[in-house]
Amino acid sequence: MGSIAPTEETIFRSKLPDIEITKDIPLHSYCFERLAEFADRPCVVDGATGKVLTYAEVDAAARRFAAGLHGVGIGRGDVFMILLRNSPEFVVAFLAASHRGAIATTANPAYTPGEIHKQASGSGARLIITESCHVEKIRDLAAERGVSIVTVDDGPVEGCRRFADLLATDAGALPAVEIDQDDVVALPYSSGTTGLPKGVMLTHRNLITSVAQQVDGANPNLYFHKDDVLLCVLPLFHIYSLNSVLLCGLRVGASILIMRRFEVVPLMELVQRYKVTIAPFVPPIVLEFVKSPLVDSYDLSSIRMVMSGAAPMRKELEDKFMAKLPNARLGQGYGMTEAGPVISMCLAFAKEPCEVKSGACGTVVRNAEMKVVDPDTGVSLGRSQHGEICIKGAQIMKGYINDPEATNDTVDQEGWLHTGDIGYVDDDDEVFIVDRLKEIIKYKGFQVAPAELEALLIAHPSIADAAVVPMKDEAAWEVPVAFVVRSNGSEITEDEIKQHVSKQVVFYKRIKKVFFTEAIPKAPSGKILRKDLRAKLAARFLD
Ligand code: AMP
Repeated sequence: MGSIAPTEETIFRSKLPDIEITKDIPLHSYCFERLAEFADRPCVVDGATGKVLTYAEVDAAARRFAAGLHGVGIGRGDVFMILLRNSPEFVVAFLAASHRGAIATTANPAYTPGEIHKQASGSGARLIITESCHVEKIRDLAAERGVSIVTVDDGPVEGCRRFADLLATDAGALPAVEIDQDDVVALPYSSGTTGLPKGVMLTHRNLITSVAQQVDGANPNLYFHKDDVLLCVLPLFHIYSLNSVLLCGLRVGASILIMRRFEVVPLMELVQRYKVTIAPFVPPIVLEFVKSPLVDSYDLSSIRMVMSGAAPMRKELEDKFMAKLPNARLGQGYGMTEAGPVISMCLAFAKEPCEVKSGACGTVVRNAEMKVVDPDTGVSLGRSQHGEICIKGAQIMKGYINDPEATNDTVDQEGWLHTGDIGYVDDDDEVFIVDRLKEIIKYKGFQVAPAELEALLIAHPSIADAAVVPMKDEAAWEVPVAFVVRSNGSEITEDEIKQHVSKQVVFYKRIKKVFFTEAIPKAPSGKILRKDLRAKLAARFLD
């Protein structure tokens, strides 16, 4: 690259040419655009039951369920919550949101009542689709806010509608819906660069663009194709799986093999039985794989590609894993919910694969621009210089729901999304993530928002102040730990504090360690100086 004038920005683009993404159609039409060709092919395979739904069956089910949603009062722009593990019902419900012009907010079914309540009320969800085992967690919410509950179980559950009944609706009962590409269709939650979890508004255009960036265009073998069997074990309530597994899989006509939860041995059995070709993973799954003594007892040779994202993968782990799967290619991707989510991806899967450097997260996606800026001055930096990664393109979120301030803090006036990640782009256009400016903690790829845990901690009368930061962990990558200032005269113990938090949060947000301290370091503005605490932790220099 030639020399750059001081005011000129260094913009990084994909090594592949941009493609036309002009279709003005809703997300479901885009995903099923080649339905006539794929109609009888297996679309969703339920790993738990072996039941197969063809493309035509999934499409018809989504239309009927959309009509069912209409029948229970869900209209265009209305939000409903999918509180489900991976399942065929999840797929149908999500596609039905698109057909209906409605918005699906996806949430972890393991959430506590408080966590579900926050997301349901923040998003304005009018209906929740779940399993009967979670109904008791949401009954109060349903009564207080007039939210209807739909259960996917075979039998009836008191006070709930049955998924099967909505699914039995005549598709003709769905009125014609005008869908604008800028209508929101998915509303996953993310804390972004700071604060509490917020609803990330992803539109039809955002998701179509992101899927197209991954699998469309002149290089149809870029990622995967119709003969692939895609393992869908990562939770669909997270945008990585929803987009890069489900939507991309549908777009190319692949078979999507659904696994409800990750367990290493059943996973290997499924890979062997269904001859899985593509395995989208996160590093903690890769670690379990490597550690399993049974990995050599299964025939996993069908896997041609392993994708890893959501967290960085260490070189030793990469090497050990590839030694177990010599036929496969491994490629990392990097993303963020607010970015739709894919920011960069490995091109080793392209028809003519290129060499991939260890630790690299691929190159920026097509039809997008990336820049790296000095986090203090905002000045654009050149190659190999470390700074905040920023990304721009039609895949970027519309904004956070009901939170224009947080939106403006994250996406600047020129449309650059500031990721809060520190990284660089090397001479070969490969992206490397080296650190994080933002507060978020990542436990096995799941987000933990320090602000959420701090709010719970300081609500305790024996706690005067608190700050939560990540601590490195071999299995989880990071775990949340708390620095706590006790209230005057309080003798609250570490265990009591852990218990106080544990009962209010899902398992991965539990505080792993408490460090008592005299004061939380803060800037004059009151902002917690997390860097100081992280440094203190790293040095084990505790009060
Ligand atoms: P989420 O919105 O839950 O997908 O989390 C996004 C964040 O996860 C990013 O902003 C990064 O901090 C982190 N992340 C995602 N992919 C990677 C990766 N390949 N390497 C390092 N960090 C990653």
